[in-house]
Amino acid sequence: MVPVRRALRLVIDGKAELVEADGHGFVRSEKLTVPRPAVIRLVKFIHVPRRFRRQVTNTFLFARDDYQCQFCGRNPSQFRHRECLTRDHLVPLSRGGSNEWTNVITACSTCNTRKGNSLPEECGMTPLHQPHEPHFVHLSWAVRKLTPIQTRYIRIFYGAETLNQLRAMAPESGAAHGR
Ligand SMILES: [Zn+2]
Repeated sequence: MVPVRRALRLVIDGKAELVEADGHGFVRSEKLTVPRPAVIRLVKFIHVPRRFRRQVTNTFLFARDDYQCQFCGRNPSQFRHRECLTRDHLVPLSRGGSNEWTNVITACSTCNTRKGNSLPEECGMTPLHQPHEPHFVHLSWAVRKLTPIQTRYIRIFYGAETLNQLRAMAPESGAAHGR
């Protein structure tokens, strides 16, 4: 998943080839006229920097945890007025905890406040799922609405099972997901 500009740059530089155009016209550079890409295939491996892969944004964090508080199990449709999803650190930052995938979980604001600066074992609040570093590609898809073209290629390369998992993870339109 890359912006169209980046996809074009990769094709023009010969690092990727066009697999399918989106059918909405062409883009002209000084030397080339390229159809607007919908799907490209990398010709060679492109290194993704570790710091980028490891970056945990709340959008990705909430998607990984299925938009569910990992302490009380509620999701935003069950929240009371002014409650929202938040990022909780199992080992609090004030006690040396990090922002790595394995130390952050989705918590509702109420549970986050109740846990405060405690370790899980000190307050008896154990997360429903042990946090892990997710597959970056899966997360990229999960936070976006899949287009019909993407759906087709995911089914071809990853199978119907993966497609169903991604659809289950996708945020419901109109639902409040907090900050
Ligand atoms: Zn909660």
